[in-house]
Amino acid sequence: MTNSPANATSAQRPETPFCIVVLSGPSGSGKTTIVSRLEAESPVPLVKSVSATTRAPRKHEVDGQDYYFLAPEEFEQRRARGEFLEYAEVFRTGCWYGTLKSELDRARKQSAWALLEIDVEGAQNVMQQYPDALTIFLTTPSVDEFERRLRARGTEEEHVIQRRLETARRELEFANRYQHQVVNDNLDRAIAEIKSIFDNKLRECCEHA
Ligand code: ADP
Ligand code: 5GP
Repeated sequence: MTNSPANATSAQRPETPFCIVVLSGPSGSGKTTIVSRLEAESPVPLVKSVSATTRAPRKHEVDGQDYYFLAPEEFEQRRARGEFLEYAEVFRTGCWYGTLKSELDRARKQSAWALLEIDVEGAQNVMQQYPDALTIFLTTPSVDEFERRLRARGTEEEHVIQRRLETARRELEFANRYQHQVVNDNLDRAIAEIKSIFDNKLRECCEHA
């Protein structure tokens, strides 16, 4: 094993250079599942950005943990004050989602990378502002598999599932704008691939730091 920053122990490792990681992928591609595993297993300290949204919380969701659930008026006020790094109306439902700039500061303070799990529109916006961001598009082996997983998850009603499948088809057209496309066929394999992408990016960041 070489003594590179990526495989140094935490005691030896110099402060991690800051990096924004953008993870997108259609609903049902496994983003939430993979992010929670990465929070525990990432080779780099990682802080998941908590997005703001105007959509209603689901049963198990906790304000400030899963999302900052904002009334549309508050979302608009904060948008007008320039508090968002990016924002988008996702799924064309009238629900807004956005990344607060303060989430990047929260990650920086912890010497961690900021992980943004955001849609393709928000991702384009971040890529323009931060060309050095690490961008990953997650997908499944087929569109039928999105549908199967969405239904198996059982958190959406039929009309919502249909809209998300339409969105998935549109989102797939953006996949090649990301630096990496990872197929979530097998969960452990996909996570190993992302961890290796992180290792390579960390090495690259440290070489240029
Ligand atoms: P997203 O956040 O992208 O909408 P989720 O993480 O909620 O997706 O995953 C959708 C469903 O698919 C969940 O029920 C999850 O347990 C399941 N899932 C995730 N990865 C895999 C995989 N590799 N194989 C089979 N099912 C998976
Ligand atoms: P949910 O299933 O939580 O209602 O919706 C998740 C969708 O909204 C996903 O496609 C996710 O990538 C997107 N999303 C979540 N947070 C943000 C955000 O802060 N900005 C943008 N642009 N999209 C987001």
